[in-house]
Amino acid sequence: MIYEIIPQRCAEHLSGAVKFATLSKDHEADTDWTPFFGLHDYILKTYPLIAEKLEHEVVGKAGLLFHWKGTGKSKALPVFMMAHMDVVPEGDWSKWNYPPYEGVIADGHVWGRGASDCKAQMIAQLEAVEHLLSTGYQPDYDVYMAYCYNEEVAGGDSLSSAQAMADHLIAKGVKCGITLDEGGGMRAGSSMDAEGRICAISVGEKGYVDFEIYRLDEGGHSSTPHHGGALDYVAEAILAIRDHQYPYRLTPAVKARFEAIAPVMKDKELGRLLSDIEGNWDELLPIIDKNPKLAAYFHTTLVPTMAQGSQQGNILPEKAYVGVNSRLLQGDTVESVTEYLKSIVPEGMEVVPHKGHNPTPCGNVDNDAAQLLYSLCKERYGEDITLVPDVVLGGTDSKFLYGLSDNVYRFGPFFNQKGESSRAHQVNENTDIETLAGGVEFMVEFIKRYGK
Ligand SMILES: [Zn+2]
Repeated sequence: MIYEIIPQRCAEHLSGAVKFATLSKDHEADTDWTPFFGLHDYILKTYPLIAEKLEHEVVGKAGLLFHWKGTGKSKALPVFMMAHMDVVPEGDWSKWNYPPYEGVIADGHVWGRGASDCKAQMIAQLEAVEHLLSTGYQPDYDVYMAYCYNEEVAGGDSLSSAQAMADHLIAKGVKCGITLDEGGGMRAGSSMDAEGRICAISVGEKGYVDFEIYRLDEGGHSSTPHHGGALDYVAEAILAIRDHQYPYRLTPAVKARFEAIAPVMKDKELGRLLSDIEGNWDELLPIIDKNPKLAAYFHTTLVPTMAQGSQQGNILPEKAYVGVNSRLLQGDTVESVTEYLKSIVPEGMEVVPHKGHNPTPCGNVDNDAAQLLYSLCKERYGEDITLVPDVVLGGTDSKFLYGLSDNVYRFGPFFNQKGESSRAHQVNENTDIETLAGGVEFMVEFIKRYGK
């Protein structure tokens, strides 16, 4: 019997997945694994053909990896599709219209934490594969489906689940032709200050570091203060960082991104300047400097986000620190930014990089796999779509996959044509049912056409 793609059933399956409160924790020891393994069982029960015909195994603490063996007739390298099972905390319960872990289906949407980020993507992949299996379809190449468990805490204090997946497959000698993760996709041009619609395939992401910059001092009673206490140093460090931001520069990936968007930018004058960034560099600099959303693409950012002195008003601090968050542009590294900070903060302060990673390499969209994603978008949503090789300013699990494939892409199969927000990481997170079913259909077509 054919397992049809029925929007209401897709919604019910997503609703079921939302019921598992799969919260990841910074300290892995604090994680409750019960909901993760509950979700594994749920997937295997909900998709009997996948359970029967695909190999599956647990990778790392609770990663779920499926392997769909192909006929081998195609020379195409395997497809690696992924999503993360974990979710961020629900925030203020009283602000949710429906409880965050009940997966309520109402008003044409599935509501709850994870309903969009990222369980919708997981369900879309599973529905698509279950449907194809029911028709007797077998791909001519191998398919891997990987569901990770600590994306939202970027691995926390332990090994990233996505890294564990990549290591596991690389050790078996697997090399994939494409990896598909969240982070890009079809979107209204307005979300990128552009006209029309955009097919954004994200080809790379900036690095990330949390720095602690501190000064130790003898402390003492606040009634007899001395000059140059620990907090004075912190204040000077903050001002030094403000006054010594990294200069703007242009990377090849950022150049490609803006040259793709430039012709459709709402601001025609800005579009004209961005169509030849090098030629218009002097004119662009003051514009970039005034626009934080633009500036983030052109330099490594440094921003103080936390600070602390002593614990009480009448105590001089024995230690004062400022926490500085940095997002690294391609070309900088955790080491180079550490050295840079040491060179600008007052002497006598320590600069310690805590959690962090270097920027990823940046790929491009000049290959069959990326062009297939673009073609499928045009077939579904019309010809008038601009392809943009995007660079992610935040972070995704994809940063761990660069050893596994040369085409590491962030591209979700969803497009909400009503322009609604899925409210990821906010209260009232949701996925629109039609959008969900559209994503399933997109994945079916992608699997059928890849490698052809
Ligand atoms: Zn996510």
